[in-house]
Formats: sequence, structure tokens, C-alpha cells
Amino acid sequence: MSTAFDTDSIEVHDPATGELVGRVRPADPDEVDAAVARARAARDGWARTAPAERAGLVRDAAGAVRAVAEELARLNETETGRPYDDGLGGVLAAAGTLEQYAELGPVHRGRSLQGSWSATDLMVPEPRGVAAVITPWNDPVAVAGGLIGAALVTGNTVVHKPSERCPHLGRRFAELVASFLPEGVLEIVDGAGPTGAALAGHADVDLIAHVGSIGAGRAIRQAAAGTGAHVLLENGGNDALVVDADVDPRWAAGQAALGSYANGGQVCVSVERIYVAAAVAEPFLDALAEEAGRWVYRPSQPGEKALGPLVDRRHREHVHGHVAAAVADGATVHAGAFVPDGEGAFYPATVLSGLTPAMAILREETFGPVAPVRVVQDFAQGLAEAVDDPHGLAATVLTGSMAHAQQAWRELPVGTVKINAVFGGAPGGAAEPRGASGSGFGYGPELLDEMTTTKVVHWSPLP
Ligand code: NAD
Repeated sequence: MSTAFDTDSIEVHDPATGELVGRVRPADPDEVDAAVARARAARDGWARTAPAERAGLVRDAAGAVRAVAEELARLNETETGRPYDDGLGGVLAAAGTLEQYAELGPVHRGRSLQGSWSATDLMVPEPRGVAAVITPWNDPVAVAGGLIGAALVTGNTVVHKPSERCPHLGRRFAELVASFLPEGVLEIVDGAGPTGAALAGHADVDLIAHVGSIGAGRAIRQAAAGTGAHVLLENGGNDALVVDADVDPRWAAGQAALGSYANGGQVCVSVERIYVAAAVAEPFLDALAEEAGRWVYRPSQPGEKALGPLVDRRHREHVHGHVAAAVADGATVHAGAFVPDGEGAFYPATVLSGLTPAMAILREETFGPVAPVRVVQDFAQGLAEAVDDPHGLAATVLTGSMAHAQQAWRELPVGTVKINAVFGGAPGGAAEPRGASGSGFGYGPELLDEMTTTKVVHWSPLP
């Protein structure tokens, strides 16, 4: 075991109350090594198991996840502060995705090509081997369910490291799925960045699927450059919302609030920066400040629009750091922008304007309930500023103009462009992030291609 490795136990506190939920001991490099060795030992047997049989086990696991969905949603709320109903949606999405991959796995197929009348090329998808699945806390069960499901149905074995911010939830979910599978097919390791790094740099890992921050994604890419593992990175974003002069400013403010405040702004495709045309800016800002007031940042009552607490106080410091720096540099506060007294890691729905493009709040992912608004002359200026950013996850435009919508989806250098709705793509949809936000398909049927490598067989008759 490396002496430099941090073996201190990780404490998890309920972000609504600050109470201790529990402690986990991070896996050290020897334990990571042992988990990878078990997954490697199970690899050939699982790869040779009939796809329909593999899929049947994954489908059974999905049923078990559904049966304990309420327990998992409660645990999600306790460990990360995610409002119960949202968390339940995430757990049911995980069960649905496992079922979807159980259907798609057995029909995931290759192609063939005719070289001559009697010579055939086969293109056969094969499992990559041992997949490291390293996941975040903000939609933990849905993200883990998708990646683990796709890896398993295509014949990979998995070593999963859930986020250190929800380790009990991560382990409960993954152990439940693993209980339907042969020994070693799904291994789980606890721990934070160092455990993830030991897993990502392991020579016997063939594929690393990481959903999380840009910094961790970069470190993983570097580690994989040394081992040759295939890398799938779904990382942070800085999504723009561009509001055209021809839309109803109240409706646009509702879209902006939903995009900025859902799950406390802790969604990878949250709205992170807003460009509003000057012609509608004043009523838009007034309506947005009113919307912000409807999102409850203290412990909420049933029926209220719950913001929930942020995941922890460390993260709240990061969010407020962006807001405070903008205010210190002259931003105008229309709502929120303060650290509330009391227990937990709550933060109010915030609206700022008077921002300049160089401010961190516009340049970096804030990942909190903050709507930073920049008033621009017109759609063209808003689009130009939205485009000028190194992230490449998603962006939204609100416009009644076909020409503006067309120009926007062509010019925005992101994996997903949303026109006239901040959320709500088709289920099973998939996109590839660009730039700093990562690479590869993390969702949808295309994820099955990422999980496999194609072998070509040139098959000719004897002369
Ligand atoms: P994070 O990168 O800190 O942690 C995610 C996982 O990576 C955790 O399991 C963590 O322990 C592990 N990790 C950290 N450092 C590592 C390293 N050097 N090597 C290997 N593993 C390491 O991210 P987070 O704070 O848990 O999640 C929030 C981030 O995730 C945000 O940036 C958000 O935008 C992003 N995210 C992206 C998507 C997407 O689909 N693009 C979806 C959800 C979240």
C-alpha cells in the first residue's frame, strides 16, 4: 500500500441539518487492485455468457431497484440534499435505463461487407473488458445505472466507484444490482479522488467511464494515456441561455428559473449564463426576480418549489465565491446572493445582472441556484458571447425566429442545442460533449458502441 494514500475515513453529513449520516473507509490501492483482479477473473466468463442471459439478469436487477426506489430516494436526500421527488425520479430513471439496456444489449449488432462472391468481412462488437465506472453525486443513481447497465449488457465486467458524497447510496444501489450477477462481474470500491485515480490508472482496466468535474476528467485522460484504456468523459458545462427580443419575457423568465434552479442548479446541463436582448431585458429581470422568490431555500413544505440545500458547505463556499466576486466587481443583485443563517448548506435562488464577460460567474461552472444575466444589444451579440466559451455540453435559445434558431444550432460548439425548452429531450437521446466538457456518448443506444470495440474478420474460402 502506498504510504501517501489517504486512508482517513470519509464523513457524510446531511446537508439539510448538518447531522452525521455515516463514515466510509476509502479503498486503498491494494483493495482497488483486488477488486480489479476479481473483475478481470470474471471477464471471460461474462463475455461468453449469451447476451440474452446477461440481459435477463440486468432486467431482474432493474425490478429490484424499482422495488426499493423509495428507500434509495430517501437515502439520496439524506446524503446529497436532493429533494425526495427529484431523487425518486432519478432512481426510477435508473431502473428504466437498466431495462432499456436489457432490451438493447441482445440486439446490439455489427455489420458485414462482401469482399467478393465468397469472401465476407464481419464487423463484430466485442466487450472491451474491465470497465471502471466513476460517478458523481448530483444524479447518482441514474448516472450509475446507465453506465453500469450498458457496460454489463455488452459483456464487460465493472468496477464501480460511486461519489464520496453519497457512498452509502452508491453502495446500496450497486450491491443490489451485483446480487443478481455472477461473482466479480460488478465490484464496488468506496473512496474519493485518490481511490478513483488508483482505479483509473490501473493497468488492467480497459475502459474508464467518468461523469464528473472537468479537473478529474483531465486527470483521468492523462492516466489513460499511460495505460491505453478507452476513455468516456461526461464532464462539467457552462451552458448558455440566449433570450431573443421576440419572446414573452415572463415565459422566458420561467424557463431561465427552471434551468437555473432545478436541483439547486446542480445539474450538468443547468443554465449557467443568460444573455437577454435589451428590448425585453427589464420585464425579463423583474419576472426572473419574482420567480426566484418562489423557490424555497429553507426546508420546504409539500407543494412548495423546493430548492433543497446544496450538497455541502464546501460546495456552498464555491457557489457563493462566484457570486460574491461578481458583486464585488459591480454586479447588481436582483434576488438572493447571501449565505443564510442556520443549519445545513442552503443557498437562495439568486439573480444577478451588470456582469462582464471576464467574470468567473460567466466563464466557469458555478453549479448552484444562480441566474447570472448579461443584457446584450440583440440576439447576434448574445449568440456570439454564448459561442465564445471553452465548454461544450449544451445550450438553449428562446426565439420565435426560424433563422435565429437555425443559426444558433449551427454555430454553438456544444453537444446539445435546445430550442425553446431548457429541459425535456426525448428519453434515450444521446449527445457527445465537446471541448472541456468531455468526449464520447454517455447515454442512449450509442453508449453500447462506446462499451464495445469492433473486431473485423476477413473471411475467405480456401483457394
Ligand atoms: P468529481 O469529478 O469531483 O467527482 C466525480 C467522481 O470522480 C467521484 O466519484 C470522484 O471521487 C471521482 N474523482 C475525483 N477525482 C478523481 C481523479 N483524479 N481520478 C479518478 N476519479 C476521480 O465531480 P462531482 O463534484 O462529483 O460532480 C459534479 C460535476 O459533474 C459537475 O461538474 C457536473 O457538471 C458534472 N456532471 C456532468 C454530467 C454530464 O453528463 N456531462 C452529469 C452529471 C454531472
